[in-house]
This record gives sequence, C-alpha cells and structure tokens, in this order.
Amino acid sequence: MCGIVGIVDAGGVSHPLYYALFALQHRGQESAGISTWDGASFYKYKGMGLVAEVFTEQTLRDLKGTIGVGHVRYPTTGANLPENTQPFNFRFQDHHFAIAYNGNLVNADELRTGFEQQGEIFSTTTDTEVVASTIVDEFRRSGKIEEAIIHCMHVLRGSYSVILMLDGILYAFRDPMGIKPLCIGTTETGFIVASESVAIDTLGGTLVRDVSPGELFRITDKGFEAMQIAVADRRAHCIFEYIYFARADAVIEGKLVYDIRRKIGASLYDEAPLDADLVSPVPDSGTSVAIGFSHHSGIPYLEALMKNRYTARTFIKPSQKERELAVRLKLNPIIGHIEGKKVVLVDDSIVRGTTSRHIVELMKESGASEVHVRIGSPQIIAPCYLGVDMPTREELIASTKPVNEVKESIAATSLHHISLEALVKAIGIDRENLCTGCLTGNYPLSIEGESCLSRNIDFVVGSYQAKLGSFPPDKTAA
Ligand code: AMP
Repeated sequence: MCGIVGIVDAGGVSHPLYYALFALQHRGQESAGISTWDGASFYKYKGMGLVAEVFTEQTLRDLKGTIGVGHVRYPTTGANLPENTQPFNFRFQDHHFAIAYNGNLVNADELRTGFEQQGEIFSTTTDTEVVASTIVDEFRRSGKIEEAIIHCMHVLRGSYSVILMLDGILYAFRDPMGIKPLCIGTTETGFIVASESVAIDTLGGTLVRDVSPGELFRITDKGFEAMQIAVADRRAHCIFEYIYFARADAVIEGKLVYDIRRKIGASLYDEAPLDADLVSPVPDSGTSVAIGFSHHSGIPYLEALMKNRYTARTFIKPSQKERELAVRLKLNPIIGHIEGKKVVLVDDSIVRGTTSRHIVELMKESGASEVHVRIGSPQIIAPCYLGVDMPTREELIASTKPVNEVKESIAATSLHHISLEALVKAIGIDRENLCTGCLTGNYPLSIEGESCLSRNIDFVVGSYQAKLGSFPPDKTAA
C-alpha cells in the first residue's frame, strides 16, 4: 500500500502535490517525496516521516516546475530505509526520469536476477527499481517510452499502478487486472492522476474516471490521452481497498466507498441480528460500517471509544508488545456510554486479533454487560502478495482458529464476520473481478505455493485514443 500522485499545472505543482499527498497520507506514513521538472531542470525532495514532517515551505518553494510526481510509502517489499523512499529519480541518456509506484511484484526477484546477470546494479531492495530497470532496458532498445511501458506490461507480474515523469511528460499506467486503484481528474488549471479521488477533491478538482486496467495515460500541459495496452480476461480489484485502505470518501470504480461500507453494516445486522443498547465503531476504520449497522437495526449509534488522533505514525511498530501498547494509547473508553450496557463494537477487520482483544477488554473494564463484535470483512486467512501488509499465515488469527475460537480468544460475547457473498454484493462488482486472495487463499495470478485462478491477458497494442482532456480544461465539454 502506497499513495501516488502526478500533477501538471501551469501555476506550479509543488504545493498541489503536497496537498494531494496530505489527502493520501492514510496510504502510507513511512516516507514522502516529490520530484518536479521546470522544462530545463529536475528538482527533488524526500524524507522519512509524515508529509507535514518531511516538507517545509522552503523545500516546497525550491521544488520548481509545472509538472511533478509525489509518493507516500507504506513498506511491503523493501525495508524501512531512507534509500527506499520514492519517487525514484534517475537519468538515462540525457533524459530525466522520476517514478512513483504502488503495488507489489511477484516476479521481482526473477527480474532483478536477470538484470544483475547482465551486469546491472541496484541501489535499493524495492520493486520500484525493478520496474525502472525494465522500462529503461526497453527504452534503450527502442527509444520510445510507450514501447517500454508496453514491454513492462508483458513482463511485470503482480500489482502495479505507476506514475512516471519523463522530462516534461507524465505517464500513468495500471496493471492489466487493475489490482491497485488509480484515477484521473482535472483541476482549475491542470491535470492530476492519483491513487484515490480524495486527492483530486482536495485540490477542488473533478474526477474524470479511473484509469482502466491495462491502460496507459500520457499527460502534458495540453491535456491527456489514453491508450489501452492490455486486456485481461478478468479484473482483480483489491477487495481490501473497499474494506479498509481507501478513505471512506473515495470514489473507486464509480462507487463511493462510504456507501459500500454502510451496506456492509446493514448486512452484518441481517446476517446475525441481536438486541443491544448501542452500536459503536472502532474508530476510524469501523465508522461507516457502524453507521450502516445502526440505521438498519435501529440500535442507537453512540461512540464507546474516543481516538487520540496524534498517535498515528509513532505507534506503527513492528513488535507485538509495542502494538499492544499502541492500542491502549490510541483509544480511550467513554465509560458513561458503556457501563451496564450491551455494546455492539464494529471494526473493519481482524488481522492478528490484537485490536479486538484489547478493545473487548477495555469495554469489560468499563462495565459493559455484553460485548458483541461485528467485523466488516470475512475472516482473513491468507497473506497478501500483491501490496497489502498482511502477515504470514501463522500470525493471522483466523488462519489457525475457527470463528468460535477467535471469539473465545478475544473474549467477546459474540463475534460475526460478514460473509464473502454479502461483502461482494455491497461492493457491487462481480466476485470474479475482485482479488479475494487474503479471504480465500485463491489469487488472481500464479504465486509459488499458492492456488491460482486462471489468467489470460491479450495485448491490444494500439495508438492513443482521441484526446480526452484539454488545457485549459474545457468546461463546456461535459
Ligand atoms: P489486529 O489488531 O492485528 O487484529 O489488526 C486489526 C486492526 O488493524 C483493525 O482495526 C484494522 O482497521 C487495522 N488494519 C487492518 N489491516 C491493516 C494493515 N494492513 N495495516 C495496518 N492496519 C490494518
């Protein structure tokens, strides 16, 4: 999981990129970076930490230019090291490249070894550098960036949403199954491509549409053009984007995530009705699900927990002990709402079980008479290889325990997870067009040691479609 953004704007891009990254902060808190181009020179700045910690007014002012890319990182592949921060910047034959990547390759090691055998060297452990090498390898042969991106789609296996800046042009493309999100929009004075529509909203812009799976966009100060490169026989949108990752106010594939989560909440009640005094979310990820549950069931929505908003990054820690401390510091029970009450607690997911166990304990310590846990995803039973930081099977509580044992382990009065059928219905996309790997152990492409559903990708290498955008954006076109 990472957030990426690319902007073309005659008024300068560093501030719009900064605000867009701010809107995408939930997709990665480890590091942030921006690269820009002013027609003659390349500017870059990146560092470890939150967007607001990395940039100052001065660093933004120094990032000159009318085109640029930005990135917030949440590590899946590649260690938590400063050299793994993005965008990656490099020069090749007088061309300046900057690349921002979201996804995870399952054949990165194979590709890396191939390049190393040809004598290439790598300076990081990330998949992004492998993507960059794949692009440059073909670019060297053909001299055409479009050819290089088409080549990428042939050889990269996994999830990838990529924004590439080559001199004064942005290229944005998405893997043929559209695993990670990417969308394009217009602003008053330019164009934006970003992981989620919330970045476009933040700039007061208009979402045009999602970048289609297997599609390449070319964006300049004149407008944007699209080219369909590859068509797979299925899509595989990450189901976890709808469950947890995406912001509730994001629109993905034409659907407002908030509404999907409200439907999940309603189905959670229908699947396991109960009598209770109040429904409370585990903030913030359970909020829209809890609202849907409350509206549908008639059980009052009343918060039982208050979140301390200032602990976000400080407590994303690797050890179990630190994670446990983090939960206590993050959430404070509102005893007056809980004492003597039958509480329904709603969260989006259970991964290791740490959060649920502590929250049920907090409810009981605060005097709740019953604590019913409702979860807006089916049980997570398998790891993710396609970009979500999902631990090994041993660490996933549902991988080793059936629901009744998980209920015992978190000491809840009852526990219910939404069924996959109801979740898929709430999302409104056919199950065959979603990646459900973490919920089923069935992945949309072959992964060593795992089961896979069929995959067939046709390449429709064609020319760019008619120009889809213009500069300044044509307000009358709609
Ligand atoms: P756990 O405490 O390990 O059961 O994790 C469940 C909690 O972590 C839920 O409240 C989720 O909102 C949140 N969560 C789920 N998946 C992730 C993820 N990949 N990274 C960070 N937090 C997550």
